[in-house]
Amino acid sequence: MKNHIISKEPLNLSLPPVMADYAQMRAGFSWEMAARNMAGLPGGKGINIAFEAVDRHAQGSLSKKIALRWLGKSGETRDLSFRDLAEQTSRFANVLAGLGVQPGERVFVLAGRIPELYIAVLGALKQRCVASPLFSAFGPEPIHTRIALGGGSVLVTTANLYRKKVADIRMRLPHLRHVLLVHDDADPMDIPRTLDLASLMRAASPAFVIGPTSGEDPALLHFTSGTTGKPKGAVHVHGAVIAHDVTGKVALDFHSDDVFWCTADPGWVTGTSYGIISPLTNGISSVVDEGDFDAERWYRILAEQDISVWYTAPTAVRMMMKGGTGQVRQHAFPKLRFIASVGEPLNPQAVWWGMEAFGLPIHDNWWQTETGGIMIANYAAMDIKPGSMGKPLPGIEAAIVKHCGANAIEVVTEPGTEGELALKRGWPSMFRGYLNEDERYRNCFSGEWYLTGDLARCDEDGYFWFVGRADDVIKSSGHLIGPFEVESALMEHAAVAEAAVIGKPDPVQLETVKAFVALNPGHVANETLRRELLGFARKRLGAAVAPKEIEFMDNLPKTRSGKIMRRLLKSRELGLPEGDTSTLEGSA
Ligand code: AMP
Repeated sequence: MKNHIISKEPLNLSLPPVMADYAQMRAGFSWEMAARNMAGLPGGKGINIAFEAVDRHAQGSLSKKIALRWLGKSGETRDLSFRDLAEQTSRFANVLAGLGVQPGERVFVLAGRIPELYIAVLGALKQRCVASPLFSAFGPEPIHTRIALGGGSVLVTTANLYRKKVADIRMRLPHLRHVLLVHDDADPMDIPRTLDLASLMRAASPAFVIGPTSGEDPALLHFTSGTTGKPKGAVHVHGAVIAHDVTGKVALDFHSDDVFWCTADPGWVTGTSYGIISPLTNGISSVVDEGDFDAERWYRILAEQDISVWYTAPTAVRMMMKGGTGQVRQHAFPKLRFIASVGEPLNPQAVWWGMEAFGLPIHDNWWQTETGGIMIANYAAMDIKPGSMGKPLPGIEAAIVKHCGANAIEVVTEPGTEGELALKRGWPSMFRGYLNEDERYRNCFSGEWYLTGDLARCDEDGYFWFVGRADDVIKSSGHLIGPFEVESALMEHAAVAEAAVIGKPDPVQLETVKAFVALNPGHVANETLRRELLGFARKRLGAAVAPKEIEFMDNLPKTRSGKIMRRLLKSRELGLPEGDTSTLEGSA
């Protein structure tokens, strides 16, 4: 029987969970109480994420403890203690100050998971700049769009990524004043209009006093995708650290001796909130792996690095499942005690596979770029219903709502009813705006409720179940992709008259990007052109975003007002009923 509850009673947990009783903690919880876990800047000068994550620990008994253990692609290891990290991030803050970069300016970081990425993000926060890590698998167009939207004045990247992806778009980024490069031994140092990060860091002081920071000062900028228009820049503030910190304790069960591994890249919100901030504020050691997914490598890291808490993604779990339990059984994980995953629905089979492979269930949890931290979760001490995202965190009120007229909603109380997932506003890591798009931000709220854009239902025991997205965005390998961004890149090719992009279901990646293309007169739909378009899109968008499949069509289905009906293309692709096509162009 694969759909019964995993009861936590007989599990014999090796450590008493931080949250021993969900209902009790929920009843007694307040955000004011959670805020008391924070040290605050000395002299009552406010709250700063980097101080809570690094400096407060660098002075005390944790100063020599490993904050980050970096595992390089080719087997090298570098440890940074809390004190090392404090010094390095202070150097970086001084580099920024020395270049005249002011608080509030946007500092972008485009790099693989190398130590400089972590140092630059935290150092930028010390100088009270807004840090924005970008996924290094993006191609030049998504990089350009985001730096331009954010008005970035500084970019930290590697010489290699700069040459491949930034040099050609640099002239289209007039705000970008400084590019700081991490050089490999083989790189030429004299790339025009760039500075060498290492020499600036060497020359900078390792001491830096963080200036007064308000909890409402912007700190982080994460881009996310909608169905229409450009990516949205979700702005998070320094006060969000209260949520980063407490959700690590409650949802990921952080204990002081844990060794934590979050496999997400900081280019996505999980890799920043939980790959950088939360473990550090909790004073625990984290592993950062530069390498890409490889099941055998991951098992070795879990075993050899004594990982005790592991936060990963359903796509990775499904890829491991493909290798069967034979592979995983060749390793032992005596220290591993808590596994969680986020980003996509976690199939019940995957939860059960965790039990078979590791002797531990995988705890699904739910949140999104806009929420800044985990909102709904399965907890160490709460029974799991495999396939459910769990229950809202203490301090978070979640509900299923129905729309009834112009921006009016109604909370649904009948268990099992499907509707939009909504959260009562007011938690510390709630985004404070979409950059330069006030109306779009306002439209996400109805009264006290933030509308998530996800469809879900809540059962009679208060467990939430994911149903799907209310919009057309695509989820591939845990990454949100906006169809508009992909369509726009395809449209730049001379042969393309129109493009529509959908997520095509995939057993491992959840969805892959598929494009439907109508050609301009004089172009022939053939295999050569298909390949050319795939290559064209990949070069511009990067492997993480580009379509994997292109289908030619004479015309794309449109509404009478001329809007391409992606929903219809998707239904046809899936062989599902076409739904209401009364607005389809050409329909009677
Ligand atoms: P992002 O903003 O890129 O982090 O993506 C957030 C979206 O990912 C959510 O709105 C959901 O659609 C999806 N998502 C995140 N976590 C889960 C989960 N546990 N189950 C199902 N979908 C999820």
